[in-house]
Amino acid sequence: MPLHLISEAPVPDVAAGVNPGSKQLIDRLSADGRLPVGDFETLLSSPSDEDRAYARDRAAAVAQRQFGNRVFVRGLIEFSSHCRKDCLYCGIRRSNRDAERYRLSPDEILACCAEGYRLGYRTFVLQSGEDGWFTTEVVTDIVRRIRAAYPDCAITLSIGERSTAAYQQFFDAGADRFLLRHETADSEHYARLHTAGQTLESRLACLSDLKRIGFQTGAGFMVGSPFQTVHHLAKDLVYLSELRPHMVGIGPFLPHHRTPFGDQPAGSVDLTLFILSLVRLMLPTVLLPATTALGVARTGGREAGIQAGANVVMLNLSPSEQRPKYLLYDNKPVSGEVFEMTDAVRRSLARIGYDVVVDRGDHPKEIR
Ligand code: SF4
Repeated sequence: MPLHLISEAPVPDVAAGVNPGSKQLIDRLSADGRLPVGDFETLLSSPSDEDRAYARDRAAAVAQRQFGNRVFVRGLIEFSSHCRKDCLYCGIRRSNRDAERYRLSPDEILACCAEGYRLGYRTFVLQSGEDGWFTTEVVTDIVRRIRAAYPDCAITLSIGERSTAAYQQFFDAGADRFLLRHETADSEHYARLHTAGQTLESRLACLSDLKRIGFQTGAGFMVGSPFQTVHHLAKDLVYLSELRPHMVGIGPFLPHHRTPFGDQPAGSVDLTLFILSLVRLMLPTVLLPATTALGVARTGGREAGIQAGANVVMLNLSPSEQRPKYLLYDNKPVSGEVFEMTDAVRRSLARIGYDVVVDRGDHPKEIR
C-alpha cells in the first residue's frame, strides 16, 4: 500500500531515524501552523532523507484527511506571451528579443474553455505576461463571457500586478481566484531577481489587495532561484504563514537559456518536495499544485509532489501551435493533445492511488 494511503494513522514507524530536533520542529509546525525564521532555517539547512520522509508522510496524511485521494485538475490557458516586465529568470521577459509573441483573441480563449469543459475541467486558469493590450475592460469582458458560458466553473487569473480597482472589477465580473507568486519575501533578493521599478513592496501590496477583495489568493516562489539562501526560504515560509493564502505555487527554479540566469543550475527537486510537505503541514487546507516544473525537473516529479502533500495539477489547454512561444524555462513541455495529456495524468495518478476529479476544487475556506 502506498504510504499516502495510511491516512488517519499516526506515523510512528517513519519517525525512525529522523533527527529528533527536526521531528520536534515538524510536529510543532503541524500543531501551530507557523515557526520562527530561525527554526525554519534549522529545518531547511540539511534535511536528511529520514527528515524528508517524515515530513512527506505526515503531509500526505493531512492532504488525505482534507481531500481524500482526490486531485483537482486545472486547465491553463496561456493567452498572451507579451510582457512589459523583465524578470531576470523568465523566458518571455521583455528583453528576450528571440521570444515569439502572440495573443489569443477572446473567442480563442473561449474555445480553449469549451475544449477543457468537454474534457472535465472545471477551473480555467487564464495566464499571461503583463500585457497592456489586455486592459481592465478587455479582461473584465472575457471574465464575464466565461462566467456566463460556464456558471459551474471557477475562473482563475494569473496576469500579474494591476491596480486595486482593476482587481475589484475582475472579481465583480466573476473571477474567483488570482495567482501571483511573491517570488521571494526578501526585498534584497527580490531586487536581484528583477529589474529597477519592480519591488517586493508592490508585489505584497497586490497580494493583500487580492485577499481583502475576496479572491482565493495564491502566492508562491521558486526553490533554488539564483542568490537564494536558506534564510530567504525561511522568510518565504514565514510570509506564507502570515498571509495564509488559499493557494501556494512552488516549483524548482529552471533556467531559460535566453535570460541572464541561463547558466545557473536548476533548483533541487528533493528540497522542493520537502518544502511542499512543510507548506501542507503549515496550511492544511491549502490548494497546492504539483507544478509542471517539478515534472520537468525529474521524471515522476509531479507524482512525487502529490505524494509529498500537493493536491492540484495544472494542464495546458492553450492551442498547441502557441505553446512553444510561452517558454518560461527550458524544456517546458509544449506538445501533445489535451485529451491525451489529461488521460496520461489521470492514469499516472491512478497508479499511485489518486483520482483526478471533475470538480471546481475550491479552497475549503478554513484558514486557521
Ligand atoms: S515572470 Fe511574469 S511578469 Fe516577469 S517577465 Fe515573465 S511573464 Fe513577465
